[in-house]
Amino acid sequence: MNKRSPDDYTIESGPMGPIGESESLILRVNRNCPWNRCLFCSVYKGRKYSVRSIAEIKADIDTIRRICDLIESASYDIGLSGGLTHEALMHVIRSNQDIYGKEFPGVCEENWKAIRSLNNVANWMLYGGKRVFLQDSNALAMQPEEMIEVLRHLKESLDTVETVTSYARSKTCAKRSADQLAALRNEGLSWLLIGMETGSDRILNYMKKGVTRAEHLEGICRAMDAGIDCAVFVMPGIAGSNLERAGQHMRETIDLLNEIEPTEVRVRSLAVLEGSPLHDLYSSGDFKPATEDQMIEEIRMLLEELNFNCTIETYQMTNVLFNIKGELSDKREEMLARIKRYQSMPPIERVRFRFNRYLNGGYVNFIKMAERYDSSLEREISSALTSLEAGSDDAIEKAERAIFTIKSRAIP
Ligand code: SF4
Repeated sequence: MNKRSPDDYTIESGPMGPIGESESLILRVNRNCPWNRCLFCSVYKGRKYSVRSIAEIKADIDTIRRICDLIESASYDIGLSGGLTHEALMHVIRSNQDIYGKEFPGVCEENWKAIRSLNNVANWMLYGGKRVFLQDSNALAMQPEEMIEVLRHLKESLDTVETVTSYARSKTCAKRSADQLAALRNEGLSWLLIGMETGSDRILNYMKKGVTRAEHLEGICRAMDAGIDCAVFVMPGIAGSNLERAGQHMRETIDLLNEIEPTEVRVRSLAVLEGSPLHDLYSSGDFKPATEDQMIEEIRMLLEELNFNCTIETYQMTNVLFNIKGELSDKREEMLARIKRYQSMPPIERVRFRFNRYLNGGYVNFIKMAERYDSSLEREISSALTSLEAGSDDAIEKAERAIFTIKSRAIP
């Protein structure tokens, strides 16, 4: 056997683990964001966009094939006939020490990278090897003929793949011809996840989204017409606290969605993240954030006024009332009833409800895991809790401020 190194069993991966893609194999086709100017986004700030060569991407696909073969052979070794269990995975690690290291305390960074790649591939195999997600923020920015080559190599190397998904900018979709998009669909690109955020040109412009309402319409419709399913993200709260502007944002967003009729609408209420340009504007007083009650009202409008059926998905913890995915026609009444119940509560009970959700629903734990929880946040939370317990006059204000700080640290 040729001498092997951890590098031969390591694939590159980017920073963003997309919600809803936990069953997917993550394959990086380019690095970071080619736009990278949206004010509310901190994910790729300070990182430069770069293209990965076809040779690099194909080499990663070949590596994935090699990892699959290692896993299958380890599984046969221990009598599992190709099945995947924790035991089989440990057998892969123990019997390939040149790749994964000898003992856990002595495992070096290269070994860890190989172990992370092994986990990525093993997780994907556990779910049947059906889904692939192309990283990073806009895989569609690849030249179409190069993307086709990647999709073909993927299909030839990993024959269980049924669904290929990627993030895309609607502006990039609008730059692709109908024939190019149809060819990509034909080669297996089945879903695009697109950040629309709003249908309001005024807000798109303010947030430096780099796309217009007309480009959203053209790009998303062209992808849908080519047979690619589109999940579109909308962002309650993006227009800030001004009620007239917020109402206009949501009306124009609803109109645009009704015109496009995307396959899925994903709701992502705004969090003003530390490290984002929007947080600087907030700190200088130039951006006044919407309250959470305003965002809930925006979601109510959205649910009331979408006039087509689609999948609705709210899997982000900034959507404080929901963690729902399903057909809008099935879920609409339940979601509206939940909003109505919430809106009928007195202000102090509403803030208690939300604060409790942030503290005990997994949000704070996520921040701790991301190492963004510190003593100043701890003090802020504890002071708000004391005021809420005592029923002090400043309780609502303190709790709202603590919630805002929690959300500014990270988004689960
Ligand atoms: S296009 Fe997407 S990833 Fe890039 S800056 Fe905007 S929101 Fe962030």
